[in-house]
Order: sequence, then structure tokens, then C-alpha cells
Amino acid sequence: MRLHWHRTDLRPSDNLALVSPDADSILPVYVFDPRILDHAAPPRVAFVLDSLAALREWYRTRESDLIILRGEAPTELARLAEATDADAVSWAQAYSGLGRRRDDRVRDRLADAGIETHTVHDHLLHEPGSITTNDGDPYAVYSYFWKKWRDREKASSVAAPGADRLADAPEETAIPTLADLGFDDPEATIPAGGYMEARHCLNDFCGDDIYRYEDARDAPATDATSRLSPHLTHGTVGIRTVHDRVVRAREEAPDDAAREAVETFRGELAWREFYHHVLYFNPEVVTENYRGYEHDIEWRDDPEALQAWKEGKTGYPIVDAGMRQLRREAYMHNRVRMIVASFLTKDLLLDWREGYDWFRRKLVDHNPANDNGGWQWAASTGTDSQPYFRIFNPMTQGERHDPDADYIREYVPELGGVDADVIHGWHELSDAERRDAAPDYPAPIVDHGERREAALTMFERARGEAD
Ligand SMILES: Cc1cc2nc3c(=O)[nH]c(=O)nc-3n(C[C@H](O)[C@H](O)[C@H](O)COP(=O)(O)OP(=O)(O)OC[C@H]3O[C@@H](n4cnc5c(N)ncnc54)[C@H](O)[C@@H]3O)c2cc1C
Repeated sequence: MRLHWHRTDLRPSDNLALVSPDADSILPVYVFDPRILDHAAPPRVAFVLDSLAALREWYRTRESDLIILRGEAPTELARLAEATDADAVSWAQAYSGLGRRRDDRVRDRLADAGIETHTVHDHLLHEPGSITTNDGDPYAVYSYFWKKWRDREKASSVAAPGADRLADAPEETAIPTLADLGFDDPEATIPAGGYMEARHCLNDFCGDDIYRYEDARDAPATDATSRLSPHLTHGTVGIRTVHDRVVRAREEAPDDAAREAVETFRGELAWREFYHHVLYFNPEVVTENYRGYEHDIEWRDDPEALQAWKEGKTGYPIVDAGMRQLRREAYMHNRVRMIVASFLTKDLLLDWREGYDWFRRKLVDHNPANDNGGWQWAASTGTDSQPYFRIFNPMTQGERHDPDADYIREYVPELGGVDADVIHGWHELSDAERRDAAPDYPAPIVDHGERREAALTMFERARGEAD
């Protein structure tokens, strides 16, 4: 019998370890490890608890059960393996430095007890090291990575294991509450978790919105993206299942434009894999710049500005709408993530690590690969990132991507009754005009033009080009 340790694969189907033929029966287990929980936050834990309940129900209706343990993973898994006479433990490979170090400890502890370990690459279509330059190096430029990723054959999804492969559980274990685990309730409303929700989300998107993805994905008010990110982060859907469904959508596309839109969406799945490869080969990027400058970047220390950014009170409407969407939904639209990240680093001149840490605490879909990739892209410190001199203007970004200001008004009620042209011209109004239009909404906390110049100087000094 083999234990299968679920982690970011909270699903029964399209789960390679559950169907690999090396064991006659499998007993599933999930471990709440305090060392890992130290890096967690309420939105993600709430989503995981919801997803575990759905997964446990799936096992229970098949006369098995999901064992829930609390404690350090190496000790807990070794103890359970011994108590159940399991001769092996399987799991899906982790890609972050933290996850890999933990897995090494588990492997060593199990080896000491004479228990085999069996790992599978399950989280990506193409595992790190499988898409490289002709010299065998990992790609640092996405467009070259994409060309190879796009054309490489992909594995198809696999079915869920039959009930006959699932072992009886020795005892019932309870899923803890957030409070049991020492977390407060999340401030945001968290999307429902679980493998069935993931399936609905995928099918809804691929039946319709995927065909307008090319045109609508940058417009936050249209909500035309898949919203699959929490499911992909926590593995309530398998990536092969997603890709199969996307390919079917491409086959069913009504015209060339729709086919093109599907391909653009596939490109986002490739970005996800690109950033996972970057993290795998550069685990230090979670705290260090990927790209070194000659000198340190002299980020400012400005707690008040940071607080205004976190609260969505910067006086830049699109930035504030995004930051408030994050607090309300534990999610933010991709285009707006790019805008708020640029604003933090290039207008407030604050270290990207401050923003990354806030996102880590607030996002339900946080994973270090994508989150770090996004932050370092915006901060011009990452692989294939935004050049330091290309600085988003938050007002024109708002006007271009939310022209009617519907997204802004949805999340910033102080601007609820204000015309779009007034909102997009907020930085140009006098104090009296602002008071008249929306007395409770703040004036811009910085001048974008001035900060743009300051950002250029900051990066030129880091490059050794200015005093
Ligand atoms: C500063 C910043 C931080 C980010 N943090 C995260 C994060 O913690 N977790 C996360 O999953 N994504 C993150 N992203 C990427 C992206 O914003 C989200 O994946 C996307 O908004 C999720 O919504 P969706 O599922 O509707 O996306 P869709 O547009 O429907 O995309 C489908 C999937 O493709 C992947 N994807 C899409 N865009 C990107 C991208 N730019 N980079 C990598 N993968 C992508 C995601 O898995 C996403 O679920 C971040 C981006 C930025 C700029």
C-alpha cells in the first residue's frame, strides 16, 4: 500500500500519482505542517479547507477517506506509514526552494524508516529542464520559451482512480477550522474551492469567454478572463485537463479570430510554466532580484505611502480600484496587477518585496512562481521584464483599459456618481474641483511626472549612469 500525500493537487482526477501502477492500493493524506503554514495566509487556507472538504467527500463516497494530519510532515508521514504498513509515499514534485527543502527532509526521514518515496511531475505540462536553449540552459526570454512550449506535444489528462485502488482508512480525521490553525477569517470573500468548482469554471470559460480573450482580457470591467488561477495554484484542476479543454475550444472555434484568442490564452498557460521554470532554477528570486544592477536600487522607505497603496487611497483611481478588489475578493485582474505593481515601484519608488509580501498575504491564487514573476517584471528586476525606462502612466492606463470607469466605480464607491472623464482627469483637477466631485476621495499622493523622473534617476544610479 502507498500513501499519497496531497499538496497542491487537491483533485481526484488528472492526478498522475493516483493512477501510477506501482501500488495495488492507495491511502490519501493531507498534512497541515506548521513550517509551511508560517508562509500561508487566510485567503489561501480558506480555499484549501473548502477544497479538502470536496476531495474528502469524493474519497468517502468510494469507501475510502482522506486522512488529515497536523504536525511536521516528515514525522507525521513516517508515523502514518508505519501505522498503516504502507511501504511507499508518493507526492507531486514541488518547484519552490522552500517546498523542495521540505521534501528532502521528508525523503530522508522516510528513507530512515525504510519507506520508499515516489514523486511525479504533475503541476506543469513541461517540467523544469525539459524546455531549454539549444545549449541546454533554461530560457531567460519568454518568447523563445513560448515557441518551443507551443509546439511541443502535450500529455492528455488521466482519469480518476477506481474505487478498487483506494485503501480503507484506519480512522476518521477532522478537517480543522481556520481558527484551529491560528488564522483569522479572511477579510475578502473567497471564491468556492474544490474540484467541481474548478471544472465549472473551466467549462464556463471555454464555452464562450475564451473566444473574446484576445480583445477583452485587458479590460477589467468585462471580467472576461478564466478566473482559473486559484484552481491552478491549489491544483483543484489538472493542467492537462485545462489544456485538453482549451484544445477542444480551439477545434470548435467559429473563426480565425476565435482561434487566435485561444492561442493567446495558451500563451498565458505558457507564462505560468515559464515562471515556474525560472523559480525552479533560481529559487532565490523570492527574496532577491533576478537581474543584478551594478549598484543597489535605492528604494525609498515611506510607510505612509505604502499604507495608502495597501488601502487603495493613493488618489489614482485605477490603482485604488485594484487594491480594493484585492481586499474584497482576494483577487485582482491581471492588467490592474501590472498597474498597481508599476505604481508601487516606479511612482512610490518602494521595493517590490513590499508589494510581493502584501500580495502573498492577500491573494487567494498566490504562488511564488507567478507572483514573483509578475512583481519582478513590473520592477524591471526580473527575467524578460519591463525595461526600467518604460513606466506606466496610471492615468492613461486607467483611461485606456477602463474607459467608462465601470471597474473603478465598482470598487471605489466614493467615485460612484462621478463621470468617467472627471475620474480619468482626477490628477489635473484643482482641490476645489475634487472636493466638489467626490469629497471623500483623496487627491493624488504623488505627482506622476515628478516620480517618473525620480524613478529614471534611481535606475540610472543603480546602473552606474548617474550620480
Ligand atoms: C504583480 C503580479 C502578481 C501576480 N501574482 C500572481 C499569483 O500570485 N498567482 C497567479 O496565479 N498569477 C499571478 N499573476 C499573474 C496573473 O495576474 C494571474 O494569473 C491572473 O490575473 C489570474 O486570473 P485568471 O485566472 O482569470 O487569468 P487568465 O487570464 O484567465 O489566465 C489563465 C491562467 O494563466 C496563468 N497566467 C495568466 N497570466 C499570467 C502571467 N502574467 N504570469 C503567469 N501566469 C499567468 C494563470 O495560471 C491563470 O490562471 C500576477 C501578475 C502580476 C503582474
